[in-house]
Amino acid sequence: MRIAVYPGSFDPVTLGHGDIIERTAKMFDKVIIGVLNNNVKTPLFSVEERVNMLKEVTAHLPNVEVQSFEGLLVEFLRRNDAQVIVRGLRAVTDFEYELQMAQTNRVMAPEIDTIFLTTNLKYSYLSSSIVKEIAFYDGQISQFLAPEVEERVRAKVAERAEGTV
Ligand code: ADP
Repeated sequence: MRIAVYPGSFDPVTLGHGDIIERTAKMFDKVIIGVLNNNVKTPLFSVEERVNMLKEVTAHLPNVEVQSFEGLLVEFLRRNDAQVIVRGLRAVTDFEYELQMAQTNRVMAPEIDTIFLTTNLKYSYLSSSIVKEIAFYDGQISQFLAPEVEERVRAKVAERAEGTV
């Protein structure tokens, strides 16, 4: 069975991520979206919230599952018998960091390969951070997110504004 892992923060999942997920699902028997439980970055959404949003937006894809993980990505792949890491490339600015990570992962786990999918041009400028920034300034974000995700972002930003979170 060919199993790929698409790792990331997904804080929150955007239509750019969704595009990569749909395309990856066609290429592999199974795709595991690995949501990084990262203690360095401070996310807007908890890891459970990020996992739940991803489950909702991928509910129509039977060979996609969502899990959170901590620690080394290559160990997460080994635990899941996965052979391939999938990453999206938007612009050259992504390239240097992605290349460094792919090469490091390959040294740690030579049996695992990283593949890159170039972004859909429609979403080449899109990032979770940009969406959050626009949302905090009350701008329109509906063109970047699935409707159920947009709703959660709006609610979270409102909670923050009220100082309850
Ligand atoms: P990370 O913190 O690991 O970069 P992200 O959630 O920001 O996590 O991104 C996860 C993956 O999705 C990365 O490979 C990133 O390059 C890719 N990605 C993010 N936004 C887009 C987009 N608009 N189009 C294609 N790929 C994207």
